[in-house]
Amino acid sequence: MTTDTAAQAAYVVAALLFILSLAGLSQHKTSRSGVVWGIAGMVVALAATVGLASRSITATGLVLIAVATALGAGIGLWRARVVEMTGMPELIAIMHSLVGLAAAFVGWNGYLDVDAALSGSLLAIHHAEVFIGVFIGAVTFTGSVVAYLKLSARINSRPLTLPGKHVLNVGALVAFVGLTVAFVVRPNMGLLIAVTVIALALGAHLVASIGGGDMPVVVSMLNSYSGWAAAASGFLLANNLLIVTGALVGSSGAYLSYIMCKAMNRSFISVIAGGFGTPAAAADDGEQGEHREINAEETAELLRDATSVIITPGYGMAVAQAQYPVAELARKLRDRGVEVRFGIHPVAGRLPGHMNVLLAEANVPYDIVLEMDEINDDFDATSVVLVIGANDTVNPAATDNPSSPIAGMPVLHVWEAANVVVFKRSMAAGYAGVQNPLFFRENTQMLFGDARQRVEDILRGLDALDAPVREMAGTSR
Ligand code: NDP
Repeated sequence: MTTDTAAQAAYVVAALLFILSLAGLSQHKTSRSGVVWGIAGMVVALAATVGLASRSITATGLVLIAVATALGAGIGLWRARVVEMTGMPELIAIMHSLVGLAAAFVGWNGYLDVDAALSGSLLAIHHAEVFIGVFIGAVTFTGSVVAYLKLSARINSRPLTLPGKHVLNVGALVAFVGLTVAFVVRPNMGLLIAVTVIALALGAHLVASIGGGDMPVVVSMLNSYSGWAAAASGFLLANNLLIVTGALVGSSGAYLSYIMCKAMNRSFISVIAGGFGTPAAAADDGEQGEHREINAEETAELLRDATSVIITPGYGMAVAQAQYPVAELARKLRDRGVEVRFGIHPVAGRLPGHMNVLLAEANVPYDIVLEMDEINDDFDATSVVLVIGANDTVNPAATDNPSSPIAGMPVLHVWEAANVVVFKRSMAAGYAGVQNPLFFRENTQMLFGDARQRVEDILRGLDALDAPVREMAGTSR
C-alpha cells in the first residue's frame, strides 16, 4: 500500500471517528466518550497528514511541524486545564478566531504559491477557492475576536448601531461577489488585499451589531463559520478530511444556531445578518421603582412555610460556584416534604447546557431538573421561587415590553409565583444590559450578596429554625 492510499484510508477512519464524536456529544450521558472519539480521530488525522507531508518535505520542514505541534498542543493543554467553566465560551470564541486566521493564511498561500500544472478552468476554480477561503476566514477571525471581547466583558455587550448598518453589510457582500468575479478573470494582489480588508471589517461589524441576549446564537454561528472556513481550506489544499470535517462542523454549528434561534424566538436570518430587521431598541438599565430586600434568615422562614419551591439558576450560580449548597438546600427542603424542582432556561449561563452540567456535578437528581417549557405553566401554583444568579432569563420585559432588546425571547415566568427571592450582589443589569422589572414587583424581594454565601446562610438559618423543634423532641423523649 502506498503512503497516499494509507493516508486516505486513515482519513476515512478519522472522519468516522469525528461523526461518532458528534453523536456522543449530543447526550449528557455519552459526552465523555464523544470527547474520546474526537481525540482519537484527531490523532489519526494528524498522523496521516504528517505521513503525507513527509513524502515531499525536508528534514527541516519535519522539525518545524514537530515544533508547531508541540507548541500548539502545549498551549491547548494549558488553556484547557486552567479555564473556568464560566470562561469556556470565550475560550471557544478565541479558538474559532484561530481557525479563521488559519483559513485566511491558507487562502493567501494558495494565491502566492499556485500549482504550475493548473490551467484553464481549473486555475479559475483555484482562484475562486482562494478568494472565498480568504473571505470566510477573515470574517470568522474578526467576528470571533469581537465575540471573545464581548463574552469576556472587555467590551460592552450592547449592540453597535452604526447609521445604515444593514446597507454596510449588504454592500460588503455585494462587493465580495463583484470582486470574486474580477479576481477569477484577472487575479491580482490588490483585489485580494481589498477582500481581506472588507471581510475583516464585515466580521467585526456583524458580531458587534448583535446584542448580549443573542450572543449564544452568535457563538454557535461562528462555530459554523469556522467549519466552512476549514472546508474552504480543504478544497485549496486538496485535503478530503479537512473538507469532510469542515462540513461536519459547519452544518452542525448551523443546525445548533437554528435550534437556539427557535428556543429564543429569534429569526435565524436576522441573527446571521447582524441583527437585520431588529429595531434598534434602547437598552434601559436604570432603576424602575422601589425594590424590597430580604435577609437569609427571613428567606429560611419563607422556605420553611413553603409547600412548593422552584429554583431557577443562572450565570451568577456558576460565578459563585453555588451549585453545591444549592443542591444541599434542595435535599434539605425535600426531606421536609417540600416539592422542589429546578427550572432551566435554554440559554441560562454562558454556554448551552451550562446549568445542567453544574447541577449534575452537584448530584442533583435529573428528574427534578426541568426544561423551561416543562415548568413554565407551574409557577402560578408555586409558593417560593429562588432566582439564583439569573437575570435576563427571568426578565418579564421580554414578554411585556415590545421595545426591549430582549423582546420576544421566551423567559421563565417566575413572577407568577406567590414569592420570588432574587439572589444577586447589586441592582446591576444582566448580560443583555437591560434592567429587570422583576426586581421591582410586589412579590419580589432581593437577597443581596454572593449566591454561595447567601445559600449557606439560608442552610444555617433552616438549621437554627429546626433547633428548638429538635430540642423539644429530645426533652419529650
Ligand atoms: P445574566 O448573565 O443575565 O445575569 C447573571 C446575574 O448573576 C447578574 O445579574 C449578576 O448580578 C448575578 N451574579 C453574578 N455573580 C454573582 C454572584 N457571585 N452571586 C450572585 N449573583 C451573581 O444571567 P442568565 O443566566 O439569566 O442569562 C444568561 C445571559 O447570557 C443571556 O442574556 C444569554 O443570552 C447570554 N449568553 C448565554 C450563552 C449560552 O450559551 N447560555 C452564551 C453567551 C451569552 P450582580 O452583578 O448584581 O451580582
